[in-house]
Amino acid sequence: MHEVLFSVAMIALVVAVYRFGVTAWRIVDVIHVGQQDNSRSNEPARRWLTMLKESLGHTRMLQWTPIGIAHWFVFVGFGALLGTLITAFGQLRSPEWTLPVIGDWTPYNLFSEFIGTATFIGIVVLMLIRQAGKPKRLGRNSRFFGSTLWQAYYVEWTIFTIGVCVLTLRGLEGAYVGASSWSLDHAFSYPLVVLFSGLSSTTLEWLIAIVAFIKIAASLAWFFVIAWQPTMGVAWHRFLAFFNIWLKRNADGRPALGPLQPMRTNGVLVDFEDPADDAIFGVGAIEEMTWKDLLDVTTCTECGRCQSQCPAWNTGKPLSPKLVVLSLRDHAWAKAPYLMTPEAERSTLGTELLAEAQRSLVGDVIDPEALWACTTCGACVQQCPVDIEHIDHIVDMRRQQVMVETAFPAELNGMFKNIEVKGNPWGMNASGRNSWISEVDFPVRVFGASGEETIPDDVEWLFWVGCAGAFEDKAKKTTKAVAELLHLAGVNFMVLGDGETCTGDAARRAGNEFLYVMQAQQNIETLNSIGARKIITTCPHCMNTIGREYPQLGGNYEVVHHSQVLSALVGAGAITPLTPIDTTITYHDPCYLGRHNQVFIPPRTILEGLPGASFVEMERSGTTSFCCGAGGSRMWMEERIGSKINEERAKQAVATGARTVAVACPFCNVMLSDAMVAADVAAPEGTRVAEFSTLLLEAVKK
Ligand code: SF4
Ligand code: SF4
Repeated sequence: MHEVLFSVAMIALVVAVYRFGVTAWRIVDVIHVGQQDNSRSNEPARRWLTMLKESLGHTRMLQWTPIGIAHWFVFVGFGALLGTLITAFGQLRSPEWTLPVIGDWTPYNLFSEFIGTATFIGIVVLMLIRQAGKPKRLGRNSRFFGSTLWQAYYVEWTIFTIGVCVLTLRGLEGAYVGASSWSLDHAFSYPLVVLFSGLSSTTLEWLIAIVAFIKIAASLAWFFVIAWQPTMGVAWHRFLAFFNIWLKRNADGRPALGPLQPMRTNGVLVDFEDPADDAIFGVGAIEEMTWKDLLDVTTCTECGRCQSQCPAWNTGKPLSPKLVVLSLRDHAWAKAPYLMTPEAERSTLGTELLAEAQRSLVGDVIDPEALWACTTCGACVQQCPVDIEHIDHIVDMRRQQVMVETAFPAELNGMFKNIEVKGNPWGMNASGRNSWISEVDFPVRVFGASGEETIPDDVEWLFWVGCAGAFEDKAKKTTKAVAELLHLAGVNFMVLGDGETCTGDAARRAGNEFLYVMQAQQNIETLNSIGARKIITTCPHCMNTIGREYPQLGGNYEVVHHSQVLSALVGAGAITPLTPIDTTITYHDPCYLGRHNQVFIPPRTILEGLPGASFVEMERSGTTSFCCGAGGSRMWMEERIGSKINEERAKQAVATGARTVAVACPFCNVMLSDAMVAADVAAPEGTRVAEFSTLLLEAVKK
């Protein structure tokens, strides 16, 4: 009988490995349907380091600490318990069979028992967490809403069963060899050894064979099931995540935040002045995604972390980053057989496949309302444990909608036109860019006013005022405050005045790459010609665009946010806040300053140093900050579905008890100021939104 069990197990092993191999190859085939992307293998040594750090160190998973720890043991157990599977095969023939060389070695037994126990506890924790967050109970508020639950349950019960088998086998083995006292070899399984000790040798022999067979069956069934379900990300990520992490956009390990990717066709940059005949403008069909995009969506574990953080989803919009990824994945896999068939033979394909191939990417697969609801806040990218690059996918689809289909929210028309004609989204005259200067009582040097052709040597910083800083009332107040603080600190700076034009950030995030490139090229030409090197900006969007996107077009400058300069000046004693500001302050991290550019500390240093003020954090702050609703060009669109994102954020701020909500971005300033007067927010009287540098100026001025 033992031999029969062994033979069945060996045959199943061979078939399972074969089936697994066939599906793995199929995954490679489907991913190959995508466009080329030759930007994913630079700095291989750093990529290996990043991949090892993220996988072995679980650095991204550990953003959610308890789950990260539980998952780490399950992850390690998958590889580390391979020895116990091999042993189980041997035990089908002989209950005493152990691995050669290390099988009887105490450190190996201790290690196996420890990892087996920890894996078992880990999976129980993960199962309980999934049960507590079930969509049945929480509806849309569950991060698992929309995930394929049976697949997750199946994976969890498989690991649970294997964990039970590993420990049971250890107990049976101990009883069989007559272990009579606790030892390191049975450090965790000893209670089971005691439990089984009264059984006869024959019974123990049979039990060992049966439990070993169950363990093998559960393990091999898992391979059969995932071979049958190639889109079962909850299982396949165990293999695909390594590749997805190694091939991520940033070799140094940073998530795909900050700059957007330039537009490429099969790895070649699109030249807007003379586009190639086969140039692809964004993504309008699944085959226009790159192979890396397709790997991305196939790797999704359906964990829903991204969904749980998304401000659009959390305010009732149809956008869930997870559901976008899953829709792209399912469509890619459904359409792949059509794409793999030679064109001449496609008409012979089945009607279902032909119908799938006819589905429009935006419209049928992705709801346009979802596509345009994204604020590009980056919360999804920040949270994703397998480094999926959601924003790039969303913006690529927006690009195609804007530049090919001319299908975008009507409100964007005005913004595009204003940037194109007037050089700013508000449509103001360029001559008004210096109007704030006439409202201050200290001198401000304007480039060119004294006949300069390049920035003079004594000027340390070029102050990039930005469109908001020049034309929007609240932002103008910030501009004046920053200029005055720099003046008080004796910092030599200069502004460009009407030499500035819109950076193109809003156009780019709205998918109008053509307009963005026009704006960017104009600014780069100006900045390069005047020899700009060090730039301060009060707008995180300008900072991100000039500092991190202009290098893609040949503009390389050191660009900092005013919080970085001002906190350094306060630290150096060049500005001293002395006047007490008697208030409790909370701080809203702008997405493009915090998550996208990792500037978290300087604004806080300033705010915490204000005399008389106390500082309190919002529940969602730092990397988990909740968007104000303006990013991704949403500033220029109506918010018609669900509740308002800015009001949701304002409620979170009010809940801290703070009476002053400090901001560090002109768009956050507008959005949160507007929200504070909404009845729903119920802000106590006197609650105000203030840009942090205006608070600093209040404290500096006596
Ligand atoms: S970037 Fe922000 S708004 Fe857009 S999908 Fe991700 S979390 Fe949602
Ligand atoms: S995209 Fe990433 S965070 Fe979102 S469900 Fe998939 S694996 Fe999880």
